[in-house]
Amino acid sequence: MTETTTSTPAERLHAIVEQGLCIGCGLCEAVAGSERVRVCKTTSGYEAPVVVGELDHATVDRIYATCPGTRIEGLPERLVESDTRSDNVWGPWRRIVRAWAADPQIRFEGSTGGVMTALGIYLLESKRVDFILQVRSHASEPSFGEACLSFSREDVLAATGSRYGPAAPLVAIDAALERDRPFAFFAKPCDVAALRNYAEQDPRVDALVKYCIVMVCGGFGTPQGTLDFYRRAGIDPDSVTALRYRGRGCPGPTRVETVDGAYEFHYIDYWGEDESTWSLPFRCKICPDGIGEAADLAAADTWIGGGPNRVDSETDPGTNAIVARTRAGEELLAAAAADGALEIEYDLVPDDLSVYQPHQVHKKYAVWARHQGLGDAGRIVPQTARLRIAELARELPAEANDYQRNGTRERIAAGKATLPTPEIWKP
Ligand SMILES: Cc1cc2nc3c(=O)[nH]c(=O)nc-3n(C[C@H](O)[C@H](O)[C@H](O)COP(=O)(O)OP(=O)(O)OC[C@H]3O[C@@H](n4cnc5c(N)ncnc54)[C@H](O)[C@@H]3O)c2cc1C
Ligand code: SF4
Ligand code: SF4
Repeated sequence: MTETTTSTPAERLHAIVEQGLCIGCGLCEAVAGSERVRVCKTTSGYEAPVVVGELDHATVDRIYATCPGTRIEGLPERLVESDTRSDNVWGPWRRIVRAWAADPQIRFEGSTGGVMTALGIYLLESKRVDFILQVRSHASEPSFGEACLSFSREDVLAATGSRYGPAAPLVAIDAALERDRPFAFFAKPCDVAALRNYAEQDPRVDALVKYCIVMVCGGFGTPQGTLDFYRRAGIDPDSVTALRYRGRGCPGPTRVETVDGAYEFHYIDYWGEDESTWSLPFRCKICPDGIGEAADLAAADTWIGGGPNRVDSETDPGTNAIVARTRAGEELLAAAAADGALEIEYDLVPDDLSVYQPHQVHKKYAVWARHQGLGDAGRIVPQTARLRIAELARELPAEANDYQRNGTRERIAAGKATLPTPEIWKP
């Protein structure tokens, strides 16, 4: 199955979902208009676009040009300065630091060291932006994130913490742009890739979005993975009223509230002991940019080896690595530290990030061959640029690339990379 011009516009849009490339960012709803496309919870459990009105090919062409399932690019060239350094794995960077939120309460509440929350509050209180477009806990789907506009310290604090379930921040992009006021976008790397693509279609994006700040992202949890976690824990999924994945320590407890009471687990109980146990959407397995190359700043964990251990995490206060990729990001980092919003411990180099994030290094090397596997199977191959994935693959022995390429083909043949045609989920 590939993108063909003999398909109807609706079939072409749904092919992105059926081929496992949609991460449910919400942008296609903004591109097409909510009277034609709705990004919402579907029968597969994921958020995805459903065609609800007349859709034409020209609109679907615009979606293919902006969707982060079909097009992912690195930092726009205009934001790469002559003195910006570039690492083959970690991409463009101007400064990398270990840091945490200077306010101990924010550091405690945050997923890691609370730097995204601290920066959000700093951006508002220093009047650099009027609001933040970000994701908070969903009002009615406990495992999901929900787009929100944050105007105050309280709003940003209410959005603290990683949400590992589906989240569609860009369903709110038009509401944000219509305000015609400067704002910041806090999201996952793929969401920022989508917004950078959309900037080519809507000039308001570059005029109004002053900062794009992301977390480094290894992938989100599948709806099935969350159900399996509830079952392992002996919790009836229908009884769940709230889910906090992490935060309040680093990583802090995974807290499930149900109609019968609250239960706390370790982060490892949700994700498993190591990367091989993570239940990820197919799109995340072929993600060419989990490290936020298109963002001004990217914030990460600093666990050596990529994950916490049960003993150290009892007392870990949380420390982020932050990569400043643009001049704006570098300036914000320095100003937030000088004005007491962030505590910077010391500077890092890209090799330090590889120690903290071996799974990102592994994926960055593997992903070009995985994309070849998509092509072999007649699938849509995402267009990429400025991400160096072919260059990295050339550093590997041919057998290593063949292994990744064949693995992707086999995954597709086994039906592990195919989702049903999206239909609106009805409770
Ligand atoms: C799906 C996912 C995968 C991740 N994978 C990795 C990884 O591989 N390596 C790594 O180092 N770190 C990873 N993280 C990031 C890590 O969990 C922390 O979020 C990051 O270190 C920032 O910490 P913080 O304390 O500054 O965040 P906080 O101060 O707690 O702020 C978190 C921010 O993230 C936003 N947010 C939360 N969930 C979502 C979401 N689903 N979509 C969009 N925005 C969201 C919130 O709105 C808030 O602005 C991942 C996070 C997520 C959500
Ligand atoms: S990834 Fe985003 S733009 Fe692409 S189909 Fe999914 S919701 Fe739409
Ligand atoms: S791994 Fe990539 S595609 Fe998956 S959620 Fe993270 S940034 Fe998006």
